[in-house]
Amino acid sequence: MSAVRMDGKALSAKVRGSILAETAALKQRGITPGLAVILVGDDPASQIYVRNKEKACAECGFYSEKYALPAETTQQELLDLIAQLNESPQIAGILCQMPVPAHISEQAVIAAIDPRKDVDAFHPVNVGRIMVGDFDFVPCTPAGVMALLDEYGIDPKGKSCVVVGRSNIVGKPMAMLLLHRHGTVTICHSRTQDLAEVCRRADILVAAVGRQGFITPDMVKDGAVVIDVGINRGADGKVHGDVDPAVMDKAAFMTPVPGGAGPMTITMLMKNTLKAAKVQHGL
Ligand code: NDP
Repeated sequence: MSAVRMDGKALSAKVRGSILAETAALKQRGITPGLAVILVGDDPASQIYVRNKEKACAECGFYSEKYALPAETTQQELLDLIAQLNESPQIAGILCQMPVPAHISEQAVIAAIDPRKDVDAFHPVNVGRIMVGDFDFVPCTPAGVMALLDEYGIDPKGKSCVVVGRSNIVGKPMAMLLLHRHGTVTICHSRTQDLAEVCRRADILVAAVGRQGFITPDMVKDGAVVIDVGINRGADGKVHGDVDPAVMDKAAFMTPVPGGAGPMTITMLMKNTLKAAKVQHGL
């Protein structure tokens, strides 16, 4: 039996359609959600991500500003730009594409963004708000995973949820969101003992490891829901997930790579930007 493929591309198109409709209604009230995207340096993967974010803004009817800064930009110059965008009435959301060059502190950049405009939800204020369960913005990749679970009628309540990976942008917030939805959550990482055994207990298994084909069929319970967050460039030049495609024969539901969790991430960024515009206008 092959798992149901959880189609992130289709859901993404559907959500963007509803954002566009909501944006049209906001525009009638004189509000256009605006996103500023900052890119420092010329990392090719970052350039693709930024281009896709601009494209998504256009699709959702947003106003967008792009700042492509040279790799030699100083931290102070970057913080000055952020301070200016914090004050800009056209800009509801600010995003600085990570990673930034090594001479700039990622934490300083994140901390400089006004938490009300922090649509990536990386600012410590927003991280804290996620922890206590009172938040406007949800980190985009975990938010996309939750939207996919909802779309396919999968309720984490009471289920054994295992998240492999504990990064600040994926693993940790993913675990918190599942916990808020009453999942029984286990977080695994590189020091976890008997990882395969822990994974086999999962009703919902989320892989955010960054290693191609890391989750193999022997690590998956029959009928589990398997979410593959991984984006790994393989030796064949193609994009591969963290989950071995053979897991399709064991799982009940699974996200493909590409076309599963990936497309949802930018769509959730658009959702956060819309939310930011609404909150900033008291809506
Ligand atoms: P990080 O490298 O920041 O984190 C990887 C995590 O995996 C770490 O917590 C690490 O553990 C853990 N890990 C690494 N090796 C092992 C191992 N052998 N056994 C168990 N755990 C291990 O990655 P990210 O969280 O940023 O990203 C994860 C994947 O998701 C990547 O492929 C990335 O490209 C993709 N991604 C996809 C996005 C999307 O839009 N869909 C967005 C963001 C990321 P430890 O902490 O102990 O080192």
